[in-house]
Amino acid sequence: MSEIIVGIDLGTTNSEIAIIKDGKIVVIEDAGRKILPSFVGVGENNDILVGEPAKNQYVLYPERTVKSIKRRMGEEIKVEMAEQAYTPQEISAIILKHLKSIAEAYLNHPVHKAVITVPAYFSDAQRQATREAGEIAGLEVVRMINEPTAAALSYEAEQKAHKRILVYDLGGGTFDVSVVNIEDDVVEVVASHGNNKLGGDDFDQKIIDHIVEHLQGKSGIDIQQSRQVMARINRAAEVAKQSLSDQPFVTIEEEYLDEQDGTPIHLSLELSRDEYEDMIADYIDETLEAIHIALNGANLTASDIDEVLLVGGSTRTPLVSKRLKEEFRKQPRISVDPDLCVATGAAIQAAMIAGTDLTASAVLVDITPYTYGTSALGDLHGEMYPYMYVPIIHKNSSLPLSKTEVFYTVMDNQEAVEVRIFQGEESDALNNIQIGEFMVEGLNQAPQGNPILLKLELDLNGILHVSAKEKKTGLERTIVIDNAISRFEEDEMAAAKDRIKEIFGEGGEGAIVVNKKAETHHLVVQARALVEKAERMLEDASPEDREDIVDVVEVINDAITQKEFEALSAPMEQLSDILYYLEL
Ligand code: AMP
Repeated sequence: MSEIIVGIDLGTTNSEIAIIKDGKIVVIEDAGRKILPSFVGVGENNDILVGEPAKNQYVLYPERTVKSIKRRMGEEIKVEMAEQAYTPQEISAIILKHLKSIAEAYLNHPVHKAVITVPAYFSDAQRQATREAGEIAGLEVVRMINEPTAAALSYEAEQKAHKRILVYDLGGGTFDVSVVNIEDDVVEVVASHGNNKLGGDDFDQKIIDHIVEHLQGKSGIDIQQSRQVMARINRAAEVAKQSLSDQPFVTIEEEYLDEQDGTPIHLSLELSRDEYEDMIADYIDETLEAIHIALNGANLTASDIDEVLLVGGSTRTPLVSKRLKEEFRKQPRISVDPDLCVATGAAIQAAMIAGTDLTASAVLVDITPYTYGTSALGDLHGEMYPYMYVPIIHKNSSLPLSKTEVFYTVMDNQEAVEVRIFQGEESDALNNIQIGEFMVEGLNQAPQGNPILLKLELDLNGILHVSAKEKKTGLERTIVIDNAISRFEEDEMAAAKDRIKEIFGEGGEGAIVVNKKAETHHLVVQARALVEKAERMLEDASPEDREDIVDVVEVINDAITQKEFEALSAPMEQLSDILYYLEL
């Protein structure tokens, strides 16, 4: 056996250990879990607890537990745990020693060497403290690599590429953005920026403040006096935050939080994703500013980036992907498991140093190759359109997964809603493949804006479970779409043909008429958008081009006013051509 070098991601919130075995990357499990919470504690019998048990006791005995020690690495301080003082290195060493022991148990072999990852912006003192932590744990730190480099390494193992990627790493306590060049076998961080005091913990704090305010307003008590109560609220806030990544609403419930004059105080508070996103918007803005600083540092702009790679648990927050997509005009990549890719990258680096045979590709995660969503009334190219596509499950997401979004009725006393499910990515839902549809009837009498929750669940077998529920009454309809992933690959052609038939009116059924109407509407919307664009470009056109444009625009406008929609295609094509050449 060649010398074993393990790869370790020593994170603020979570840590992982990985190795290369028989050419494959293995993230080693501890009691069935690959992710070890970076918590250390002293148990009731004065035994040392690491990971999940320490995290659990944090709620009851915060004074006997230490979390997020990475934030203190490199500082000349001591932290208290069960009335004893420890250096940050010692606490980190306890985590490292635990990881070392689970690797030894898995390999049935002692482990003495490790590659450990650190944030790119870690100072010398912080790096030195990390090295010392390794030594205390009995691990020689053969190399320390930057976290974005590690993430890029596991990404590169997935697909050989020459690319410039932006690694956006938002964990529990730290934020780090790096521009990384991947070329042949060289992975190089060309610019980096970050904030080592920004992460998911801050998002939790916003929810905690909201809960404290709510309780103060409701029962007038200041709950912050009790550390134990605060620890429970802390935990509940994190759970709520994570649920809001998959659901539009969450109810935070904690019974018997405290007592006031003999009356128990319970917590029951609904929080919507919208409210939560408002709370964290400033933090996300901060991360975007950091991106611009990193890009400036590399003399690049957003359009020079080929891929945006998401790393760290907090990147599961939908607002993160949304803002990045707006910024870079491409869907960020989430297929590399955001929790594990730093550890797997460290293991790849470790194997390169040890000379281990690295033949297999990175960890295989089951992902969906397609995007699924629904249609709703919305703004498409500046016009209200009834079939605007709303993606719910994004391609490249790991399976199984469940996502819920909220929609609202558009009329007062609306009795029913029609739900259509599509596969695809076109912003006009009708250009995607419809894979299911159903009605939810018998809604209660309510003014417009009655919330309907639409849940899409895609399991490992590619079966899509869809349910729509009226939030107020719980009235629910569900459908199951078998084999949503594979069937539509085969059926794509047939579905496309059917749609073409529908557009041209063969069959003439009621539903088809509706579709034809929508198609016509779509054509008109497109025609108007084209005309607007032409008008904008008129100023810079030569006199001859201007004349041509004015003529064609007139033909289009005439066709729209005369409702001669069949006559639209030819002049639209002509105008597109002229504009295309003008743009060159
Ligand atoms: P890391 O340091 O990369 O392990 O990330 C940990 C952070 O990710 C913690 O703040 C978690 O609460 C957060 N996190 C984990 N899962 C989710 C999720 N589904 N949605 C939002 N945040 C999450």
